[in-house]
Amino acid sequence: MAAEEQKSAGPAKLVIRNIGLILSGALERPILDGDAVVAVDGRISAIGRLKDLDTESATTVVDAKGAVLTPGLIDSHVHPVAGDWTPRQTQLNWIDSSMHGGVTTMISAGEVHTPGRPRDIVGLKAMAITAQRTFAAFRPGGVKLHAGAPVIEHGMEESDFAELASAGVKLLGEIGLGGVKDGPTGRKMVEWARKHGIQSTIHTGGPSIPGSGLIDKDIVLECDADVVGHINGGHTALPDDQIRCICESCKRGLELVHNGNGRSALYTLQLAKEMGDLERVILGTDGPAGSGAQPLGILRMISMLASLGDVPAETAFCFATGNTARMRALDCGLIEIGRTADFVLMDKAQHSPAKDMLESVALGDLPGVGMVIIDGSVRAGRSRNTPPAERMPKVVLA
Ligand SMILES: [Zn+2]
Repeated sequence: MAAEEQKSAGPAKLVIRNIGLILSGALERPILDGDAVVAVDGRISAIGRLKDLDTESATTVVDAKGAVLTPGLIDSHVHPVAGDWTPRQTQLNWIDSSMHGGVTTMISAGEVHTPGRPRDIVGLKAMAITAQRTFAAFRPGGVKLHAGAPVIEHGMEESDFAELASAGVKLLGEIGLGGVKDGPTGRKMVEWARKHGIQSTIHTGGPSIPGSGLIDKDIVLECDADVVGHINGGHTALPDDQIRCICESCKRGLELVHNGNGRSALYTLQLAKEMGDLERVILGTDGPAGSGAQPLGILRMISMLASLGDVPAETAFCFATGNTARMRALDCGLIEIGRTADFVLMDKAQHSPAKDMLESVALGDLPGVGMVIIDGSVRAGRSRNTPPAERMPKVVLA
């Protein structure tokens, strides 16, 4: 679009009013004061009381009708293949379906389900660059999927990581899903990746499917990847003493996934809490996987951890928003001026016995999603997947 044209069209200005509660996504202050949020051209420009904000020349106005506003949820661990298709369970539209579960950003832990995926070095680099490009250019349901996560193989050199980085690759797929399953090689490659600005994650625990292998605490600690991927197993978790050793011996991210061991997730959360390290806890689904795609997986993790893990519901929301955004240097995940305008409006589900949304999550219920907004644009109204919310937001000007 030409510069004059953009000027005459004016900025896209979104005003959300009558918000019942604002969850910030930030552990240090999970609840914000205010009933309105304004976003200009897809970025948050104001947060507060409607009467104090500049709402002139809004192009979209949403009446939240008293629903809760949270940052768009981030799934820290997915395995995409191509567009909105996954061959894992022969399914279509799993990403769009996850958007209906409040997920607005996803992080690839490797495009490892790609049929016939190349394991030679030039092939794996080409596939990672292709995945980065295709998901940057095509967003199912508007979801921002950070993909292009090569799985390291023996024989890679530092120049391969430099080449990947200069081509726009910012992630490694789970270490351990390829040929490299040993500490010394893993560590060397993690260091090369880090030097070139590529973030790393490692498979933790027993094999997920036939063909993958065991990664125990010694390999995890020696590789020293940025994120301890599914520390609660994917599905088979390490024994508790090994989980404790990982939590205590490093300061890396502790990722809890839906496709893992629920008891081990609660055990890890307890350790992180005791250590005063809750900012290390992030959430993923690890879907699609053997147990399927879980459109509500992140909401289910939040509800499980809040109801059984002895953390306030507003804190559990931070695990899937601000914590992940900060750890992965994303510009979303927090209700903060300048961040991307990715929001979920939700409320307690109809007939939940709780008095409000946070109490319903603390009781173990799922909230009802009423609207999903990505980059300041409404992507979905009432979710087709969650239970119906009691209070439903409405677009009153579009
Ligand atoms: Zn894994």
